[in-house]
Amino acid sequence: MSKSTKNAQTTNTWISWNKNIKHTYKNLIKVSNEEEMMDAVANNVSLRVFGNRFSSADIHAGTPTLIDVSNYDKIVNINKETKEVTVQAGASLEKVINTVQACGWCIPCLPDINKITIGGALATATHGTNGFILSKYVSKFRMVMADGSIKEFTEQDPEIDAIRVSLGLLGVYSEITFKCEDNYRLHIKEAPMKDADWTAKLDGFLQTYDFVRILWLPHTNHGYVILGTKVDKEFTFKEKSAPKYYKNRRKVSQKLYKYTHKYPSFTSIANKILYFLFFTAKQEHAGSLYDATVTKKRGATMELAEWTVAYSKFQDLFKDLKAMLEDKTNKAYVHVPMDVRFLKKDNAWLSYAADEDVVTVGCVCRNSPKADDYEAFEKVEEVFLKYGGKPHWAKRFKATYSDFEKLYTKWNDFGTLRSKLDPTNKFLNGYLTKLFVK
Ligand SMILES: Cc1cc2nc3c(=O)[nH]c(=O)nc-3n(C[C@H](O)[C@H](O)[C@H](O)COP(=O)(O)OP(=O)(O)OC[C@H]3O[C@@H](n4cnc5c(N)ncnc54)[C@H](O)[C@@H]3O)c2cc1C
Repeated sequence: MSKSTKNAQTTNTWISWNKNIKHTYKNLIKVSNEEEMMDAVANNVSLRVFGNRFSSADIHAGTPTLIDVSNYDKIVNINKETKEVTVQAGASLEKVINTVQACGWCIPCLPDINKITIGGALATATHGTNGFILSKYVSKFRMVMADGSIKEFTEQDPEIDAIRVSLGLLGVYSEITFKCEDNYRLHIKEAPMKDADWTAKLDGFLQTYDFVRILWLPHTNHGYVILGTKVDKEFTFKEKSAPKYYKNRRKVSQKLYKYTHKYPSFTSIANKILYFLFFTAKQEHAGSLYDATVTKKRGATMELAEWTVAYSKFQDLFKDLKAMLEDKTNKAYVHVPMDVRFLKKDNAWLSYAADEDVVTVGCVCRNSPKADDYEAFEKVEEVFLKYGGKPHWAKRFKATYSDFEKLYTKWNDFGTLRSKLDPTNKFLNGYLTKLFVK
């Protein structure tokens, strides 16, 4: 028996973080070193790899063999001269950032979650609140290829921009090297603002501030605007904290939305209550990007969709989106907040920002078990597709191959590379086959 199959279990059920995706599997292999990973990939004909199971899309299981990389999580190397950190792909973002910060460095754009694995984050084009997708800061990918061999991809390799967002279809990330930057301090101010005001000021915000995020609150006519400026250690200000009960926002939201699948229109009342309770206080604080802006703990699960659209189309889209969500003739009542964030253009083939600067807009259902009854997901998707928007790979959407063919200029190139690197379709599950095979 090979080392990796020692851990294998017989028929069992794999369940995602929010319990909305379930798959039976035959063989679960928990790897803790590269040899086990190579062995598992070489000796199985159909497999998916999973990290911490946070994705809402059906992308991590659904094959007879599953490889769990969450124990493959060591910090491999810190290079003080080049400011590079090499980590195993199962390491959590939390662990990596704690290591990076201890060196006085940062990865200058971070998502609003720290419990995800590095492999899961990179594979799905996980992006920061501002700046770029996380993959932008990777200088080297060490991967286990479909035949179980090892290959390294650096900035010199023409394929690296395909590897940066791979959905686990081109191979398995083994070790990742991040190029870090000096850490910095952000001075953050948070306050509610009328929709008409924050949308009118958006260009100015993005030119003036180093950090911009809008927690948009449909049915309240407001967004909660979070603006940050890089400041030095000597900068002083008067700290303003939100009331202590603010930390219960997610739990209270879940309670208020508990029956909105039965009574969708109650959502607009719940949103107003949540606005008055949790989004009216002005706050002022400072810290590193990680300390000041990333959520460390969540009291409840959720189901997520997220869409991106060209920055140049955002204002028109926003008017349509707001009108649709507040139109009482449909049932697309959306839970708050809708997270509005901003990404710069990059070169990764399957990045949301592959061609232009984009705005990302989150759509959350706080009652995960009832996500199938949440009409907002479908209606929001309709509006975004009308504007050429792209869905987040890790989140819920219904778009298909024919939509993606139009949305991504490198779509066919990715397909050709996928067939070359995975000629037997080892890394495809049913969901990904529908998306990636014509
Ligand atoms: C509460 C919450 C907040 C979030 N916030 C953000 C955010 O701010 N910005 C953002 O962009 N996204 C965000 N996400 C999405 C999240 O970053 C992705 O779902 C991410 O993939 C989760 O990582 P994971 O370790 O759970 O990966 P999983 O969900 O376990 O896996 C995701 C994908 O990665 C593949 N994969 C995992 N490891 C490897 C590997 N070693 N090699 C190759 N492929 C691999 C899997 O096969 C699967 O296809 C959020 C999600 C949640 C639930």
